[in-house]
Amino acid sequence: MKFDSLIDVVQHFSDNKNCIDYLTQMRWKGTTTCPTCQCTKIYELKGKFKRYKCTGCKKQFSAIKGTIFENSQIPLQKWFMGIFIYSFHKKGISSCQLAKDLGVTQKAAWYMAHRIRHMLSTKSMELVEGIVELDETFVGGKNKNRPWNKKVKYSQGRSFKDKTPVMGILQREEAHYIQRPNKVEPHKTVTEKVVTKKSHITCKVIGDTKAKSIQPIIFEKVKKGSTVVSDEWHAYKGLHTEFKHHVVDHGKGQYADAEGFTTNTIEGAWSQLKRTIIGTYHQVSRKHLQRYCDEFTYRYNTRKISVQEILDSSMNNINCRLTYKDLVGKKKSN
Ligand SMILES: [Zn+2]
Repeated sequence: MKFDSLIDVVQHFSDNKNCIDYLTQMRWKGTTTCPTCQCTKIYELKGKFKRYKCTGCKKQFSAIKGTIFENSQIPLQKWFMGIFIYSFHKKGISSCQLAKDLGVTQKAAWYMAHRIRHMLSTKSMELVEGIVELDETFVGGKNKNRPWNKKVKYSQGRSFKDKTPVMGILQREEAHYIQRPNKVEPHKTVTEKVVTKKSHITCKVIGDTKAKSIQPIIFEKVKKGSTVVSDEWHAYKGLHTEFKHHVVDHGKGQYADAEGFTTNTIEGAWSQLKRTIIGTYHQVSRKHLQRYCDEFTYRYNTRKISVQEILDSSMNNINCRLTYKDLVGKKKSN
């Protein structure tokens, strides 16, 4: 099944059997596996709703067991629409709007939105490399009308009493151009861009912007020997031992270092994050900020791939539950 728009999703999944079939295929890829003991010796039980029994642990289960849809009163069709909407709305969507769009209560929409964000947040283990921009930004603040921006960082010496710092690591896109014959008129040549490295961002909510908080994240995510670009903040000192480190001295009014390296791409990404949070969600509590960052990251990293690829990759991550208790629990999510 191919989905190009929301209407495709709505139509295909108006039939609950289609929902279950799609979920079954995306989840098990043809090999039904017991969610309890991972056994693959399974038989299907007779009945209206597809249920299975495991020959190993003798437990019965359905395709929903152990996914984000488990114990939810919301029909699968609405879940799939919700996933589609979250994957595609460039600036996100509030739970209030989602409730109206899907015809569910706001509480249900809020919980659903967090489960979807949790699902989208499944981390890639791949290291970033090539040219990598590093920067932190600050989100939030008591005065909700005050925009948070780069100025705060320099005028107040990166104080973050009422703001939450977020660390960002961005792998820059690398591409070259090739000449190839036009597909329709082969006598004509066209120039095609071939992307060899996709632009990719990772955002992590951090306790403070000291070297001991920032550097371990960089060492964990960035391949040794890569070129890293940061501003002059002292927490970046010492990176040259593992990386080729370029420093843009914003304090001195520089926008690029002597060799032309900048942190412009990540600064652009921060302004998108800012628009998402201020424009759509207005206020985000520190407890939930990592999930909003994950949602932003997911959308940023998938912005150049097709609708189908996005939906499939979201669906590949459904094997993770987020209980209401986990969500509202006092434990910090970061
Ligand atoms: Zn089993």
